[in-house]
Amino acid sequence: MSLPADSAPSDVPDSFVASRPGDGPIDVDHGQRRGAIVEGLLKDIFHGRLRSGQHLVTRTLADRFGVSHTPIREALIALAGIGVIDLLPNRGAVVRKVTPEEVREICHVRRALECEAVRGACGRINETVLGELRADLVRLIEAHDILSSRYIDEARAIDSRLHDVIAASCGNAFLAKELGRLKMLFRAFRDLSWEHDKSHNDFHRLKEEADQHLAIVESLIANDRKGSAVAMSKHILSGRKYWSRSMPSPANSPQAPRSRGPLPGRTSA
Ligand SMILES: [Zn+2]
Repeated sequence: MSLPADSAPSDVPDSFVASRPGDGPIDVDHGQRRGAIVEGLLKDIFHGRLRSGQHLVTRTLADRFGVSHTPIREALIALAGIGVIDLLPNRGAVVRKVTPEEVREICHVRRALECEAVRGACGRINETVLGELRADLVRLIEAHDILSSRYIDEARAIDSRLHDVIAASCGNAFLAKELGRLKMLFRAFRDLSWEHDKSHNDFHRLKEEADQHLAIVESLIANDRKGSAVAMSKHILSGRKYWSRSMPSPANSPQAPRSRGPLPGRTSA
């Protein structure tokens, strides 16, 4: 089986690829399984349940997720590709510390990519799709149950839909692929920051975000390339401070001792 090109960094230890069974393409279910594992591990890392310096053991994770070793290895490679873990020769997978400075840098890159994508997507997105997004956003902005789980689920779905359709319509396959590779990371930050808002009864950010999404959609409907990029830039920049704020503080996420913790030991081959 060949590794997906979007998740194969050059420093993958042999132990991660030597025993990969099969030689066919990864099927949809397989890809979804890997995505769910990546998502689950990102949540654990950003909630501080997996701490920087902690080893991730393939066998333990396979038992936990009820899957074979193969999707676990692929998920670890994908996580290394977005900079959240290190794959070290003879030490396996180790959780990295993501600093506030790195969150800022990630947002900087995201802004460059998303602004370029929305410029390219102008005039390429079906009017009906944009009309539906606008109607859903207006409904979201006017809703009163803003801190309910249903509202947040809906806001999350609309956010993903909008950014996905922009990436898919940007007219640059490499850019779309790169956004697809990084979106797990962006969405993990988003979900963490929204959970933070919910737990602090802070609905301001959710409303603000819906307004920003609507501004992006309105610019796309108006076929305004410059305006859509300005609206996207504002959206990403405003997310930056919320993402940084939501990261586990060092006090809540101490360095894990190398031989202890819920997922101890070195990664098995
Ligand atoms: Zn967004």
